[in-house]
Amino acid sequence: MPLLHVERHGHIPDEEAGSIIALLEEFYGRLRPDCLDLVEIILFENDSLWRGYASSERRKAGVSSAEFDDAFIATHEAWTGIPRISISLERKQDLAPLVWEGALRHEAGHSILHGSLEYYALPMPKALQKAGENFRRLVPHLRDILYLLSLAVKDMEVARLLTSNGYIEDQVAYARFTMKASQQDIDAWALASLAPEARALCLVGRMKDIAAGIMLATGSQHPHIDLREVEESLGYLDRNLRNGLLDTMKEVSRGLGHDTLANIERAGRLLVDNIIDSVMSNPSVVNPS
Ligand SMILES: [Zn+2]
Repeated sequence: MPLLHVERHGHIPDEEAGSIIALLEEFYGRLRPDCLDLVEIILFENDSLWRGYASSERRKAGVSSAEFDDAFIATHEAWTGIPRISISLERKQDLAPLVWEGALRHEAGHSILHGSLEYYALPMPKALQKAGENFRRLVPHLRDILYLLSLAVKDMEVARLLTSNGYIEDQVAYARFTMKASQQDIDAWALASLAPEARALCLVGRMKDIAAGIMLATGSQHPHIDLREVEESLGYLDRNLRNGLLDTMKEVSRGLGHDTLANIERAGRLLVDNIIDSVMSNPSVVNPS
């Protein structure tokens, strides 16, 4: 069981800290990861303390992808080489307890599977490089596309780890919460209609959102979520795009191995073949292969 190093920013009631640590200790005790010695747990009283901390840490680490932190309940990264989970207590207020618990275990799952720097300093998949050569407008967005794609793949791996260790109810609640289309998703999509590269970015972002849901719907013989639920969360997209996205994610999940970098490389190829090529060459049509 790893040592949990807890840091508090702002006023964190002891009982809140205590219940988070107890949940994480149960989790690490159940999974017994071999090579995880230390996990940093950073607790924030509110989102603005969290945001200030996160952007200064991003600067220090030289992280170049855009900030997408608003979309997360809690986050995990390993920019310093040590897995670090950041949690803002303000986010807990609006969430059902199961979603909150599911999110904490989800981030702890990342610390086991993706707790070192190599999972955060990723090489650009060949297919995405090639897409950048074919569609120059995509080039300024490739880092963000890779970032979101890598989150999708890593979230599938975490969903598989957690469900295979018996965390079902909370992971279903968490997956349902993250896959739901927000008003922001719908607005962003409407705004993106004029720029194919913005559409590509929106779609990869949605891949991340449905990653856990797809895994719970297709990852085992006994689905924990109905695939139609995942489909409904993409209901604002036209049918071709929705099917293209679902088929791509099902294929990523079907071939998901245990080498994260290889999984990302493969997902990059599927993303380009099934979605990016079509969106970039004909913004209004997608023809999934
Ligand atoms: Zn995640």
